[in-house]
Amino acid sequence: MTSDPRVQYWNTGATALRRLGYSQGYGCPLCFGLFGRKQLDQLTLDHVPPKSVGGKLKVLTCKACNSAAGAKLDAYAHQLDVFRRIGAGEPYPPVPARLTFEGITVNVEMRSDGALNDIRVLPGSNSPGVPHQFAATFGARAGHGSEINLILPTLKISERPAKISYLRAGYLAAFAAFGYSAIWWPSLDRVRQQIREPDVEHINPYFFYHSKVAQGYEVAATVEPKWYSSIVVLMGRYRIMLPLGDDAGLYERIAERAAGGVQAQVQCRRFGWPTWPQYANDHWLARSGAAQDR
Ligand SMILES: [Zn+2]
Repeated sequence: MTSDPRVQYWNTGATALRRLGYSQGYGCPLCFGLFGRKQLDQLTLDHVPPKSVGGKLKVLTCKACNSAAGAKLDAYAHQLDVFRRIGAGEPYPPVPARLTFEGITVNVEMRSDGALNDIRVLPGSNSPGVPHQFAATFGARAGHGSEINLILPTLKISERPAKISYLRAGYLAAFAAFGYSAIWWPSLDRVRQQIREPDVEHINPYFFYHSKVAQGYEVAATVEPKWYSSIVVLMGRYRIMLPLGDDAGLYERIAERAAGGVQAQVQCRRFGWPTWPQYANDHWLARSGAAQDR
């Protein structure tokens, strides 16, 4: 008897791999390690994008790949998301911050429901007497020309690991949408290497930010113009570009065109957002001429 949700993920993935000629079990889409049915305890349900930024899609990855991301990358994605929400006036969860006024600093917690920013002093995180002193000084002196400074000390935004967290999510979403045949091209070795080695820049540019309009969640493949042929993964305001098929030069072409200021009319084939790793589109990629003929 089993109610382990990983069983079904293992079954569908292992079945898909078997169709492609591999019969040894389930393959972790990140490291390509193979896991037999008895090694389920070495596999985890990985949220795409990370759970902390609202990911609902789940993909089975190995424990080593999942915990490496959690420690190194996903915390930064969460911080980038909160920082962006504060900037855009959208709701955000409680974040620690500090208020400074006339030389007195008090630790506070900020949150917003999208309409009102709520700043509350946390008695437990301040020395005794400080919140009272702050309130008294602020009450007496506010509006008399002194500035109040708000500092977000825990939001040390580091863009690269946050971007790589989304690159990882985009890669896993592409896997969920298209199956193994989309990700085992050597052209994606550089993407996997970038995910494994976040401190070194291996590819660029792969991450794009839409400041004005949230784009929803979607996996698509650009088919025109040919130089732009790629897998596109939209996650809210973030867009990740991945090479399609055996294309080894996608990121170089994007960088080159961007430097030249080229605007392109882009045609996409849209695949929606997977709710489950489906291996149904394997055949579309195999048939597609999009990766050649450029
Ligand atoms: Zn793995």
